[in-house]
Amino acid sequence: MPPQLPGLALYVHLPFCVSKCPYCDFSSRVVSPVPEKAYTDTLVEELRLWRNYLQEDRRPLDSVFFGGGTPSLFSPDSIGRLMQGITRLWPLAPGCEVTLEANPESSTLPRFQGYRAAGVTRLSLGIQSLDPQRLHGLQRAHDRNMALAAMEAASKTGFAAVNFDLIYGTPGQGPDSWKHELEEVTAWNPAHLSCYQLTPETGTPLAARIDRGDLSLPAEEEQRKLWDTTWQTLESKGWEGYEISNFARPGQRCRHNDHVWDFGDYLGIGAAAHGKLTREDGTTTRFVNKADPETYKQSVATTRPSTPQAPTQVPAQAETIDRNTNAGDCLMLGLRRREGVNLETFRQAAGGADPLLPRQQWLEELLENGIVEISAERLRLTPRGRPLLDEVTRLLLPGL
Ligand code: SF4
Repeated sequence: MPPQLPGLALYVHLPFCVSKCPYCDFSSRVVSPVPEKAYTDTLVEELRLWRNYLQEDRRPLDSVFFGGGTPSLFSPDSIGRLMQGITRLWPLAPGCEVTLEANPESSTLPRFQGYRAAGVTRLSLGIQSLDPQRLHGLQRAHDRNMALAAMEAASKTGFAAVNFDLIYGTPGQGPDSWKHELEEVTAWNPAHLSCYQLTPETGTPLAARIDRGDLSLPAEEEQRKLWDTTWQTLESKGWEGYEISNFARPGQRCRHNDHVWDFGDYLGIGAAAHGKLTREDGTTTRFVNKADPETYKQSVATTRPSTPQAPTQVPAQAETIDRNTNAGDCLMLGLRRREGVNLETFRQAAGGADPLLPRQQWLEELLENGIVEISAERLRLTPRGRPLLDEVTRLLLPGL
């Protein structure tokens, strides 16, 4: 019997920003003016190609996520046009969550109200910090006052949920000031907080400065104190840390992120967007679109009929991935969640084989040392094991 297909979500990549942050390795371009109309038209066209390709696929969309880049550089009219295109082509599942990422420099109350009217239910605001010096160090396009104004606009709009993104682990940051910042942010009563540790991603100006010795991030011990401060401060206030970097008020988790971490399927449209589809035969295909927005646009405009591998030549890559890679992805994503990885999903991702069998010795050691635990058919990190996510993932990666 073919495996039951997981739920389906949609990710829409809007890859434009007003400036490039020195730590950013997302696919984003600084372009002015943003080619809003042409890009929106292309996205709707790409979605049509997917619909045509997946005619037999009756799954509704569990969630829609407008990510970037800076999606709030797009007007409510364009987001409305995209939502119309999406809902004409795809049914939305009951309670489908529609998230849009926004940055303070392009955030106003009327704009947020426009997004709300267009169908956006959840706003994710990239404030990153409320400390003027830390914001300056991150070279963000906004300052503290702009962040506060955007937070106020987001809170007033009436979204079902508002998330604030924060970054910690910046040069010179200590636990006391971080705790103070967390307290200021939580006083706004958002539904959700994402707290990401600053990481020097290869190829970024931040990594180059660190390599040259011009800058240093807090040492491992200091980073650990900042991590502990994050979890202790937020959990003591009733926030649920449901993923390594994400905290929600009860019932306010981000549905789209949970869907992806739980190994759901998703279409990714837009330049550099990624997608994942499970086939009836149990194999998984991953898609990556062309990264340059102009090349991406050309690829949509000059498309040929679908092939069995991909809807068009829009994706730069469309590959059926081997069971080790697939199971490894499933493990990596699942271990990030508080509930851990679903062992049945993990087995299916491995093509039916037990992916933990070749790693039994490591698994037993991790269990004995209280780093991981298994219950209710899930393998999860214990609170003690959470900071060791990367190490545990490496030890348990399937080698079938
Ligand atoms: S605003 Fe976000 S996507 Fe844009 S450059 Fe900065 S970190 Fe990257």
